Amino acid sequence: MRIKTYTFIVIISIICLMLHSCYYKPFVGYTLNKKGFKNFSKKERMAGDNSNPARDYKINRYDWVVEVFPEQQRISGTMDIHLNTLSSQKVLLFDLQKKMRISSYHCSVEDAHINRKGDFLYLKFDKPVPKNTSLKLKISYEGKPANVASQGPVQWKKDKQDRFWISTVTEGIGPHFIMPCNALLNAEADSSSITVTVPDQLVAVANGRLTGVKNHKGNKTKTYRYQILNPINTYSLSFNLGHFVKLTKPYTDISGSERDLVFQVLDYNQDTASSFYDQTPIIFKELEKLYGGFPFWEDGSKFIESTFSAMEHQSGIAMGSNYRNNWKEFNTTLIHELAHEWWGNSVTGLDYCDIWMHEGMATYSEALVLERIYGPDAYDLRIKLAARRVKNTIPILKECGVLYNSWVNPADQDIYNKGALMMHSLRIVVDNDSLFFNTLADIQNDLAKQNVSTASLIAKFNNLLGNDYSSLFEYYLKEAKPPVLEVFIDKEEDKIYYRWQEEIPFYKDGEISIEQDDKEFHLIPTTAYKSIKLKNAIPISFQIEKSIYYTVKYQKEI
Ligand SMILES: [Zn+2]
Repeated sequence: MRIKTYTFIVIISIICLMLHSCYYKPFVGYTLNKKGFKNFSKKERMAGDNSNPARDYKINRYDWVVEVFPEQQRISGTMDIHLNTLSSQKVLLFDLQKKMRISSYHCSVEDAHINRKGDFLYLKFDKPVPKNTSLKLKISYEGKPANVASQGPVQWKKDKQDRFWISTVTEGIGPHFIMPCNALLNAEADSSSITVTVPDQLVAVANGRLTGVKNHKGNKTKTYRYQILNPINTYSLSFNLGHFVKLTKPYTDISGSERDLVFQVLDYNQDTASSFYDQTPIIFKELEKLYGGFPFWEDGSKFIESTFSAMEHQSGIAMGSNYRNNWKEFNTTLIHELAHEWWGNSVTGLDYCDIWMHEGMATYSEALVLERIYGPDAYDLRIKLAARRVKNTIPILKECGVLYNSWVNPADQDIYNKGALMMHSLRIVVDNDSLFFNTLADIQNDLAKQNVSTASLIAKFNNLLGNDYSSLFEYYLKEAKPPVLEVFIDKEEDKIYYRWQEEIPFYKDGEISIEQDDKEFHLIPTTAYKSIKLKNAIPISFQIEKSIYYTVKYQKEI
């Protein structure tokens, strides 16, 4: 039994490592300062500054029209930015990566001029524009998007039949690499449209619902227009081009309405993809039971075969070609990306420093969905895997108000598994599953389609849970290390000595479990050493999944 379990864990671990989800890939290495963060440049601080007065406007709508030239790896387009000023303005700040050339622009307010400095785009007015002015800025631009370490923002690839297959991915790189926009996380447009013109043998698929296709026989192109009626993260706005075929699967949602789930897959993968995606309605239903109804039915739910592993593009999730399951009949990447529709796309961080709430909750959702399908052992195993992957070298709450050109240190990936382990710890401490799960659903309901800071989300948890769990959140978010259990093994006496390295304010008198020979022992550590005598001092295993998340530090003496 033990060998079987071990083998299963090893196999699952290997497959999980192979099946990356939307994990940030390192672009360039950086060194960390004493606080455990990158030393950000003045430009990075300015680009990520939420409090810059020149960003004091509300984006109402983006209308993005883009033509794609695969042979030249070039794009050309216009962006209509509809906004309202929130204060009197002499200058507005936008973002457009410097390789994109502006050919013309027009602003609905007279005497407005564009100045560019690096990746910053300033719209300057001769006369101050009053607060609450509705303004439309149209920018025509073109160029070859920068290639950031072959990761994006546009991946120009060929499929197995040597045909063009192209995807965009801008999270971590920045949406301004392919469109003029406000690249801050909190600058979501209320609605958007994406119009993509492509060579006529290719199908263009973007977020939202397809509202029209035009065939331009003269120049052998086709134009696809998509409408997005919901607020959307700017990095979610994306397109995919390829020889796609459309599959649909019926789904009865949690309210009893009949829906179609849409899958746009490469033609030669149609059969494989169709059987792979049979699991989608099951995952969908479990997520709806956990978090409430899918937030974006107006825009539909769609999965698009992308050139990279996966990304949670809202209402148009990118999924790679790896049509294999890694957890019995399920694929945890699919669970993860779909969970992002609730955590990340509906409830969104206010700043990129809050990104743990996207990734931590999506990763924790993997454990919760597996638990609902396969029972508590599957949950426990996913939590164990999370604990093994965490590096614990830097805090998962990042520095706020700075531009992240991707999370470029491998330790940054703790936002996934440590974020999940924090939620697991909260569940343990709350010790009331119905309250815990009602709270998750209530947060989804109360904060739907909003940008939320870490502090606001913690306050919301405390309020709904009826207790102050701030110290738990602070410990896991702001400390590099989780609680540490110091352990000394006395092999001669067959005794285990244990104590917390420091007091754990949110887990006083909290229990931990150790296992030996399929027997469980429950211990209540304090900051003073206690001991337990066992049949043999080794081997023992610490069952992290049965308690809050902590690490074990073995002592040579006490
Ligand atoms: Zn993710």
